[in-house]
Amino acid sequence: MQTRVNSSMSDLTDLYQEVILDHNRRPRNFGALPDANRSAEGYNPLCGDKLHLYIKLDGDRITRAMFEGSGCAISKASASLMTEAVTGRTVAEATTIFEQFHQLVTGTREADLDDEVLGKLAVFGGVREFPVRVKCASLAWHTLKAALSGTADTVKTE
Ligand code: ZN
Repeated sequence: MQTRVNSSMSDLTDLYQEVILDHNRRPRNFGALPDANRSAEGYNPLCGDKLHLYIKLDGDRITRAMFEGSGCAISKASASLMTEAVTGRTVAEATTIFEQFHQLVTGTREADLDDEVLGKLAVFGGVREFPVRVKCASLAWHTLKAALSGTADTVKTE
């Protein structure tokens, strides 16, 4: 069991890359958005991550995305990077990024991954080794989907 612990520790070091640490320490777009016209709550009971996402939708375009909440480094960094990734995008573009992100973290259809679409989000590629962490990384995106579709209920990863 000892070797197993050691190997997962080094994988975790890889996982907590500089970008993730930076966005956890100084989350971008963190706070309430008073003029939001879309919002949703996300909750990951497995880890305790909580998220309130605010979206300002202007026609078909996301002009502002902000979030509040508490959770682990992965969930916070993911929400921070997601708000950056979708700001200025149309709903269709954001959906494409979400699909790419989902494939990245679940390790499915890797051949279809597009580095240009993913950009900085590629740092989450390491979480696919950790099923529990996949839920942390995906929470913000599932919450975004709920906000854009107008679903009122809290999104749960379970
Ligand atoms: Zn978490």
